[in-house]
Amino acid sequence: AGTLYVVATPIGNLEDMTPRAARILGEVDRVAAEDTRHSARLLSHLGVKVSMLSLHEHNEAQRVETLDAYLEAGENIALISDAGTPLISDPGFVLVRELRARNRHVVPLPGACALVTALSGAGLPTDRFVFCGFLPAKQGARRQQLVEWKTRAETLVFYESPHRIQATLEALHEQFDKRRIVLARELTKTFETFLQGTASELLAMLEEDPNQARGEFVVMVEGNKAEMDLEFQEIKAQTLLDALLA
Ligand code: SAM
Repeated sequence: AGTLYVVATPIGNLEDMTPRAARILGEVDRVAAEDTRHSARLLSHLGVKVSMLSLHEHNEAQRVETLDAYLEAGENIALISDAGTPLISDPGFVLVRELRARNRHVVPLPGACALVTALSGAGLPTDRFVFCGFLPAKQGARRQQLVEWKTRAETLVFYESPHRIQATLEALHEQFDKRRIVLARELTKTFETFLQGTASELLAMLEEDPNQARGEFVVMVEGNKAEMDLEFQEIKAQTLLDALLA
């Protein structure tokens, strides 16, 4: 039987395609892509001619059987999404779960991923972080999620749909008044920028320069320091207790 390769593609800068990923895309029998028209541009840039089929959130469950049959017939298949690493706020989880359950050979190829790229350039603690994905679009649900994450000591990382950055910053202002926030915008692209400040400082920056509100964003919020202190106190208390009991 064949192999499913889960292949990361660039998040803006085509040079971030790894040589291994480019080679595998050129070798497989078929490419499953979130949006075949979008990915056809990448494949043509790489000089790759290959059969494609779509795999997106609305047909992923049905595609499992189709792709499994191709694998059974000995084909090698690559899964790619519009940008970055498949399965990370992108389709592919259902497919990989089902193929793993059937003991198929699944090989992930590392490459660009917006959340890791953002964290590696932000200067917020990275020893522990929580990836929160996209915030809900509805105000009530969004607020509820933020209240849930408010106590976490880890750096919080959000993906943001373009056009919603203002609303998100306003919601963050309500819940995370004094915390340091870093906005990573247009990563790996010509207008890449990192902005930092409190939510209200960032809102003021975007108002001053509306260009800064355009494009793709990763939003990172520093963790809850009080929780961190509490955790530290608990560790100290435990160490002391251990010493006394020894
Ligand atoms: N699978 C992708 C990955 O590995 O990062 C994420 C796909 S998700 C549908 C798209 C979101 O990722 C965007 O709305 C944005 O929050 C983030 N993103 C993707 N590319 C980005 C970039 N070049 N700069 C900043 N954020 C980006």
